[in-house]
Formats: sequence, structure tokens, C-alpha cells
Amino acid sequence: MSEKLLPFTKNQIEEIIKKYPTPFHIYDEKAIRENARDFKNAFAWNEGFKEFFAVKATPNPYLMKILHKEGFGADCSSFAELILAQKTGITGEEIMFSSNNTPAVEFIKARELNATINLDDISHIPFLEKHGGIPEVISFRYNPGHLRKGNPIIGDPVESKYGFTRPQIFEGFKIMREKGVKRFGLHSFVISNELSRNSYVETARMLFALAVDLKKEIGIKLEFVNLSGGIGIPYRLEQSAVDLTALGKEIEQEYKKIIMKNDLHPIKIFSECGRMITGPYGYLVSTVLHKKDIYKQYIGLDACMANLMRPALYGAYHHITVMGKEGKPHDALYDVTGSLCENNDKFAIDRKLPKIDIGDITVIHDAGAHGHAMGFNYNGKLRSAELLLRENGDILQIRRAETVDDYLATLDFQGLNNF
Ligand SMILES: *Cc1c(COP(=O)(O)O)cnc(C)c1O
Repeated sequence: MSEKLLPFTKNQIEEIIKKYPTPFHIYDEKAIRENARDFKNAFAWNEGFKEFFAVKATPNPYLMKILHKEGFGADCSSFAELILAQKTGITGEEIMFSSNNTPAVEFIKARELNATINLDDISHIPFLEKHGGIPEVISFRYNPGHLRKGNPIIGDPVESKYGFTRPQIFEGFKIMREKGVKRFGLHSFVISNELSRNSYVETARMLFALAVDLKKEIGIKLEFVNLSGGIGIPYRLEQSAVDLTALGKEIEQEYKKIIMKNDLHPIKIFSECGRMITGPYGYLVSTVLHKKDIYKQYIGLDACMANLMRPALYGAYHHITVMGKEGKPHDALYDVTGSLCENNDKFAIDRKLPKIDIGDITVIHDAGAHGHAMGFNYNGKLRSAELLLRENGDILQIRRAETVDDYLATLDFQGLNNF
């Protein structure tokens, strides 16, 4: 592949820009639905399989509703995300509440919605009992410590703040059983943005084995195992997507080998992926405002890292298409920048691109997860609009752009007059 494909042409995007000025994020509904179905089909062998979309990746209720219609629930980790789920019509056990360092109000809200609570720490048992109460079903987040390696985004499990140790998992389930919990689940999230199937299969194997030990050692029979998120996406041209069908099959083999052999069938498989659900199907569209020729060549976009901070935060690669110049030789070398007063506000460094002119439209790929969501207002930058490309080609604005009034809304200028 020499270019990444787009769900719109240059003419179409020019028409859209007439109504919705750049920068904006645009999501491809058809592709999101197709991918959701592929994911579900890959795990269709497991009767209770359910994906809880990690809301933090793209917290937009329209996308959440599309995914809910495809059979997904919501994985929430904050008060606001719980409210988003509730307002989208996702409640009860269709919500997985996977939080950490959790404030009391969040447990209370999660209990009010009857969400499944995935507890991050053994000390949260008495805390939850006090704030919200002990539920009928509980899940624990397992941190395997030195048993697993982790990767750069989450880090080495021994250094990561999440989850219970292995002895705490056993101790915690015993406590919860005494307190009246009837149904149990187990969760672990050790690796993020991983393109090899191995690590996800390894997580399944680890949790299945722990399920066996829990049954043998303390008589706890799990109802579900939550493999969490972490399936990566091919940000770079030379990478390829995780083969979901193969992944499903490999986990099925482990399920047969470990769960079935030990008479623990049925256990429901859950997941809470974010990135791979929406990431490849969202695009940040912007216009070239300026070109600058000093020690290097710079392209200045009307978007900045407030719209997509992954390149600045992780040095992440995001492919860039210059609309209408896809076939032209990529013989210019640019840093593609935003306008923040931070020198890491760059979407690309030393990127080979076709020769760019002021007014060109650029599309930054794979911005559909952890893109708009990570937006912030530093330097007085305003978050952009989110658009949905419907299956019939219509455009729906699913979030308007912020205005200066939004930016100023938390300030009291009345008070300033008497100050
Ligand atoms: C971020 C997160 C996810 C989703 O991770 P992806 O890498 O986007 O799939 C799932 N569960 C928890 C608890 C998370 O924090």
C-alpha cells in the first residue's frame, strides 16, 4: 500500500468544509459498523461474548449509540463517562466501570446505574461498601507484576499503578463472597496498542489459568473473564491490522485447553477495546495556513496538538494525506505543525510529502480514538467539531466546535468589575 484509503474524495471534503470549517474530526459510520461486526463474529463461538467500548477513546454519544446498536456496551472510568453512557441509554450490566483511584461519587453513580464494577484495589472493598454498597456481581483487575512485560504506553506491570496482586485477588474474592457477592469476574490490562496477537492471547491464557486456580483453591467459579483493551491499529503504512478472526480462534483454543478441560465452561469473554473500535475510522481534517522556510521547512495547519496530541505525547506516527496530491511524488521534507507555543506541537517531523501549497487540505489518519478525546484548551485553543459520515453519504455534526464563549464560561467577569 502506498497510500491509506479515505472514505471521501477531495471534492466531497471541499463541500463539507463549505459548511463545517476546518479543523474537524470526521468518523466513518459504515467502517465502524463493519469492524464492530467482524469483532463480534470473531468471538461468536463464546455465547456470552460482549465488547464494552472504552468510552475514553472517543466519548461521543452518537458513536456510543452506533456501537450499542451493534451489541456493544460501554466501559467507563469516570463520573462524566457514566453520565454519557446513561444519556446514551446504556445502563445496568451493559456498563463496565473500570476506574482507578476512584472518588466516592463515582462508585455511588456506578451502583445507581447497576453497572458492573471492576475494582482496581483490595482497599476499595470497604470503600465501595461505604460508598454505594456491595453489589451482586464484582470484577477485579489483576496486575501480574513480574509475570508479564507490558509495553511503552502502560509500562512494566511492576511499575504500573493498576490492579490487585495475585494473593490479593484470592483474598479479595473471599472477602466479597462473605459480603454476599454472588457473581465474579476477572480483568487485566497489561498491553496497549499491540499489533501482535500473542500478547492478547497471552492475557487470555493468564486469566483462564487464574480462573482455574480460583476454582481449585477457593471454590470461586468465574462468570466472566474481561480481556480488556489494547488491540493495536496499524498507524504506519507498512503495518497491518490484527487479524480478528485468527485472534478469536487462538483464544478459543486456549479456552478449550484451559476452561473446558477444567470443567469451568461456560465463562463469558468480555473485552473493552477502544482504539481498534474507532481509531482507524476517524480523520482530522485541516487546512494549510502557512509555509515557513528557515533551517527546516514547516507547514502550519489550522489544527494543533489540542486536536490530536498523540504525536506530541508519544512521538506517535500518524499518516498524513494531502488531498488531491496522493499520486504526486513525495519529494518534499516537512515538519507539519500546529500553532501552540510548544515546539512539540508537530503532527509530523521530517515527513516526506508531496509539495504543499497554502490552502491545501490535509487529512491526518487514525485519529478516531484518543484523538479529539484528549483535546485541551492550553494556549486558548478550542476543541474542534466532530462530524459523522453516514452510510448514505450524509454528514451529521455530532459535536459542534467550541466557541470563545465556551472557553470563557467558567470565568466570572462580573466579579472582575468589583475586584
Ligand atoms: C484505555 C482503557 C481501555 C481501552 O484501551 P484501548 O487500548 O483503547 O483498547 C480499556 N480498559 C481500560 C481500563 C482502559 O483504561
